[in-house]
Parts: sequence; C-alpha cells; structure tokens
Amino acid sequence: MTIDDAPREALRGGPRELLRWVATGAAVSRADLSRLSGLSPSTVSQRVEALINQGLLEETGDGRSRGGRRPRQLAVPTGGAVVGAIDLGAHHARVGTLDLSGRVVQGRTLPVRIEDGPEAVLGALLTEVAALAAGGGSAASGGASAAGVLRGVGIGIPGPVQHATGRIVSPSRMPGWNGFDVAAFCADRFEVPIIVDNDANLMALGAHRTAHPELDHAVYIKAGTGIGSGVISSGRLHRGAQGSAGDISHCRVVADPAPPCTCGNAGCLEAVASGAALVTALRDQGVPVDDLTGVIRLIDDGDRHATALARQAGRAIGEILAVVVNFFNPQVVAIGGRLADCEPLLASMRATLYERCLPLATQTLLIERVDSGQDVGITGAAHLVIDHVVAAS
Ligand SMILES: [Zn+2]
Repeated sequence: MTIDDAPREALRGGPRELLRWVATGAAVSRADLSRLSGLSPSTVSQRVEALINQGLLEETGDGRSRGGRRPRQLAVPTGGAVVGAIDLGAHHARVGTLDLSGRVVQGRTLPVRIEDGPEAVLGALLTEVAALAAGGGSAASGGASAAGVLRGVGIGIPGPVQHATGRIVSPSRMPGWNGFDVAAFCADRFEVPIIVDNDANLMALGAHRTAHPELDHAVYIKAGTGIGSGVISSGRLHRGAQGSAGDISHCRVVADPAPPCTCGNAGCLEAVASGAALVTALRDQGVPVDDLTGVIRLIDDGDRHATALARQAGRAIGEILAVVVNFFNPQVVAIGGRLADCEPLLASMRATLYERCLPLATQTLLIERVDSGQDVGITGAAHLVIDHVVAAS
C-alpha cells in the first residue's frame, strides 16, 4: 500500500506529514513533531530515522539549548537531492527541478510541438530535466549552480493517463500519442521512479499542497486549450479505478446548436467551453483569431463576440461543476489554466454554481482562482514523486 492509498486518519503523523511540517518550518525538532502529531517521542524518532536514511530529512547541527544537551535540528535537504518535473501543455512545457520540500530549484518553459509525437517531445524534455539536475540550466532557468541527485521524475500529460501503467489512452489533439507508454519510455532513460499523471491532477495536487493542505475535500478545474478537473478527497488525489476520475471534458452540456466534439459526440463540455472551442467558435463567426492568446486578448478588450462566448463557457463549466459540487460537497472549488483569468467566464461560472447548487453545499464553499503561477503543475509533479519516495521509505 502506498501512502496515497492510506485513509486520512492513518496519515496523522505519517511520514509525509512529518516531512511537510519540517519543510514548512512548523517543526524543527523531534519534540516539535511529537507535539504536532500527538505521537510518542519513540515513534517520531523511528519515523524520522527512516526519513533521514532515505535522504529526505537531515540534521543540521544544534538548535537552541534550554539547559542541558542542545537538541539537533531537522531540515529538508536543499543542496543535494532534487526531483525532476515536466508539465506538458499543447504548445509549451514547463520543466523544472524541485527540492524534497516541493520548492522550485530551477524551472524553464520550452516551446513544444505536440504533433511531433511522444518520442521527440518527451526525449527533448527529459534531456532538459537531466541538464537541470546536473546544474546546467541556463540563466533563464534560474541559475547554473543547482546540481542535485535526481530522486525521481513526475510528468503531467494533457490527456487521459491510465494511472497503473502510465499509458496514454485516447487523448484529444495529441496525434500519435494514443496508447504510448510514457512511464516505460522514460524509465529507459532514467533509473529513478517515473510517475505519470494527467495535467489536471498535477495542477490539483500542486494547488492543494500550496494553498490548502489543511482542507480535505477540493475540486480543481483546469481550463486552458482543453478542460479537465482534479479531485482531492480526504486529503489525497482521487483517481478512481483507472485514473479517469475528474475527467469532465466529455460531460454533456446544454448548447444549441451542440458543437461536434473530437470524441465523436456533440455538445461535450470540451466542445463548448475549452480554449480550443472558443477559437473555433470565433472563427465560425468570422472573427479572425489565431489561438487562445488571441481569444483572451479579445475578451480583455471587451469584444462582444468573444465576451458572449466566454460567458457561455462559464455557464457550461458552472453547470457541470454544480453537479460535481452537489454530489461531492467539496470545501473549495478552484479554477486554473489560462481561461481562469477571464472575468466574464469566472463570473458566469460562479453565478451558475450558486443558482444550481444546494444551499448546504455552497454555504461555506470557497470559490477561487488557482493562484500558484506557472509552477503549479511542476509543483504537483514533484509532490507525486516525493509522496512515492516517502511511501517507499
Ligand atoms: Zn466529447
């Protein structure tokens, strides 16, 4: 059993939580950890020793003395071990190395042509991860002297990923990627754990650990070129049986006419409310627009066609989200991705959500924007790996 599969109660004072307390500065000693977790000093010591042996914690000399022997201080190693992270998008990828507390050491954004296929795209990104881990990043990636021992690589894919195998299954807009075994391809290049997941799950995990680690139930919508969501249930990422939990892209919404979807159906959320759908709909109305950046510019400029479409997209997302909120009763719903900055979309999503949800479900519901910048995906990817390494310790 991995930590991810453990019930929440069993995680109180679990290795991952001990690590988080030290990483965030909430604890600097075994005594602090014992106080925070309610565990006995001997149990805490045992778990700390295991984490030290794994290289996940280190002792950094002496703490403040209160008379008698000075206690040893605990810290997350920042100079040695790193995890690699790749957050692949339709046109760009964010690549980075992070320390074992989930802080970004180096990060850089690379242009990507997804249609070049998995070997070419992933091959180039893995080469970049290796260069960053070797301390060879460019000035743009945050400095050139941050070498570290690579402990694992987390990878986010903008399409459905079968979690157990790391294989991509029937992605939209990723020609040549269907059935590709990402984990096996990467394992041939790095002899460290490789964890693959979809990009919405990465965003969910990154945003949850950064903004709301104290909340147990959360839903994160990623609205960019495509659209998806990640679910945190009882404090952990909920993937379902195969890894498709949270994939709302092909849920049907009310739309007249119902636009055709890449999946073969019509009226899917992705065909109405994704960035790609907005580009298509504007072009169909005779508005010349190149890409999602152009759409966002038009919305910011108050273009009436683009604004109306953004409102329609927000309503569609709100409709699906209302079902999710009524069913799942989260504490927070947060929207990220490039469309999250579109005010008209956000306003109509919020209004639809309040209109369609039970008062009990929305009474204390937080509705937010994901606010972790461009590194939220690689932060989630790093936490996937860190959790895996901790679980194995
Ligand atoms: Zn569809």
